[in-house]
Amino acid sequence: MNRSWLEVNLEQLRNNIRALRASIPSDTEIIFVVKADAYGHGMVPVAKAAAEEGVRWFAVAYLESAVKLRAALPDVDLLVIGHVLPENAETLLTQRITPIVTDCEHGLALADAARELGQTLPAHLKVDTGMGRLGVQWDEVAGAAKVFEEAGGLELTGACSHFAKVEPKEPASALEQSKKFNEALAHLPEGLFTHLSSSRAALFFPEWDFDGIRQGIVLYGYGAGEPEGRFHTKPILQWKARVVQVKSVPADFAVGYYGTYRTEYPTQIATLAVGYADGYNRALSNRGDVLIGGKRCAVVGRVSMNWITADIGPDADVQVGDEAVLIGEQGDEAIWANELSKICRTIPYEILTSLNASLERKYLQPRSTPATVLDFLHGTCS
Ligand SMILES: *Cc1c(COP(=O)(O)O)cnc(C)c1O
Repeated sequence: MNRSWLEVNLEQLRNNIRALRASIPSDTEIIFVVKADAYGHGMVPVAKAAAEEGVRWFAVAYLESAVKLRAALPDVDLLVIGHVLPENAETLLTQRITPIVTDCEHGLALADAARELGQTLPAHLKVDTGMGRLGVQWDEVAGAAKVFEEAGGLELTGACSHFAKVEPKEPASALEQSKKFNEALAHLPEGLFTHLSSSRAALFFPEWDFDGIRQGIVLYGYGAGEPEGRFHTKPILQWKARVVQVKSVPADFAVGYYGTYRTEYPTQIATLAVGYADGYNRALSNRGDVLIGGKRCAVVGRVSMNWITADIGPDADVQVGDEAVLIGEQGDEAIWANELSKICRTIPYEILTSLNASLERKYLQPRSTPATVLDFLHGTCS
């Protein structure tokens, strides 16, 4: 098999969940955000492992993802943190999926649809406290709640908001948002399931835990590296590719489209079967590194659609078929998505969600590990 592949370490995911849980109060619910196919890791296997580890709540962006997750996990709580169309009310009800109410009109339309089905739809009210995206404006919550109450058909079971900026050194705007959220809650019935914090807020501000925390990136192992944070997690995904050709080249040899790289000295160029179509960002041309033979090697020349080229040096003993690491560890070296994201002037989230959905994802260390998988772990993957 020559195409690149992903290895997702589910035991490390469980470790991350345990680290998070150990640092928060026992009655604080973890809402695991598995939108965008679990940030590129593969939603169903990742959510199943998390559910085995005791996570009860999962959040996705689209209803179709929630339906897919429901089929795999009949007993968990599912929240759609995007906009669900009122025409999907029946699916929400039959599949026990909780939508958020994104504004007053949306809430009324959902209520209408539920009443037509002779039912009452549980929903969480999204409050816009400063993100300026989805949600009822915080100072219009009292009015909206009254309108929903009179309409019938909708039962608010929770309320949530989302931070636009969380910086421990500049907490003013987040503090303002948390105050607005609290003011909005004062106009809502007691006993709602309340949640505000995403990863960065949970890391640095325990006072905003409310009843639950919506956690994405930290459970995938990014963003929780600062020593001052409440918990620490490690990446769970590695991305590997095969060397498909090694060639010895002289000095002043042009590599790739438009010859943007010329060798300075005689060396060897390894061609790897991975490119921007697989999610390897083109901005890594002449800038990224890969790990081959336990060493960091520069990506030289332009990243093309399905291949990249790396300078492995004149003396490297690298063979066709050898494993190269694009994200992950090899020998004493490591390259993680945050390194790539800096080069690409983006965030680890985008690096991870750009991983082509059709790449093979191998799930390592599922809970009941059969001997064959252990052989694999201790053999080819060591
Ligand atoms: C994506 C998202 C999250 C998770 O954010 P992380 O930074 O990955 O923890 C939480 N809440 C909402 C509304 C989101 O859209």
